[in-house]
Amino acid sequence: MMDETNGLSLPPLSNYKVGETLGIGAFGKVKVATHILTGIRVAIKILVRQSIDEEKARREINIMRILSHPHIVRLFEVIETGKKLYLVMEYMNGGELFDYITEHCWLEEVHARRFFQQIISGVESCHLHKVVHRDIKPENLLLDSKGNVKVADFGLANVMRDGHLLKTWCGSLHYAAPEVVSMRPYVGPEVDVWSCGVVLYALLPGSLPFDHGMMPVLLEKIKNGIITFPKCFSPGACDLIKRMLTVDPVKRITITEIYKHSWFRVDLPRYIADRSLNTSCNATKGQESGYLD
Ligand code: ADP
Ligand code: MG
Repeated sequence: MMDETNGLSLPPLSNYKVGETLGIGAFGKVKVATHILTGIRVAIKILVRQSIDEEKARREINIMRILSHPHIVRLFEVIETGKKLYLVMEYMNGGELFDYITEHCWLEEVHARRFFQQIISGVESCHLHKVVHRDIKPENLLLDSKGNVKVADFGLANVMRDGHLLKTWCGSLHYAAPEVVSMRPYVGPEVDVWSCGVVLYALLPGSLPFDHGMMPVLLEKIKNGIITFPKCFSPGACDLIKRMLTVDPVKRITITEIYKHSWFRVDLPRYIADRSLNTSCNATKGQESGYLD
């Protein structure tokens, strides 16, 4: 495959030795690769232009470019050809949180809390950069070699604009907020808070807070927001989950309030408690030029 953009007849991934497939998504494959000069391993998301919405792919790229946070997967570079877009990202060799939960069945509360604190920290950084993720679920939360979790897959993310409500969504039903499944407009952060609440429930020894084989029943369960908790959930975890899975988005706990919640604050690492980190970004210049619109 030759590079159709620079006319140098170099294969587009000539700097990389491409390895196995890590994931097959709706829009293409993600492969592991090694940067030949440095030996650094990366993950390359390959988007086939013919089968994607170019505008959406640009949005994913532009959003990833402005985010820089220890709990958000980094985008290193984008290689473009006439047929494909290659998103070269930080490699998360621990795989998906989904597989981790499946393997371990459930986690001890201290372990779940550590993941949850990291997820909330990453998600807050998105919101502070006016980005709503809109597809928070264990398949899009990836683990690194040190067992840290990072937010990935900004394919459905969008940018919040003052005075504008968001409407569209096409993420995963089990993690979707009631206002989203009811097709009501929403501001943004509150739908990610709901999804994070479902993730926290799923990390603990239970299953999913809302589940049913038949979609209409599942939709009703989400809209009613009635949750039952296994006995082993601690009162603090139950309280936090209840507040996150509050049907009325106005009454739902905010991320600022999650930070103040007693269950969340236990063993909170200083770098997460110090939220100034969450405002740091990669490309302030890009934001100023408004390219996200
Ligand atoms: P899609 O929009 O198709 O869901 P994702 O960005 O979620 O695409 O990637 C699909 C899968 O590929 C992920 O669920 C994960 O298993 C794997 N993957 C994606 N990015 C990385 C990464 N940076 N490191 C390791 N695996 C990754
Ligand atoms: Mg995904």
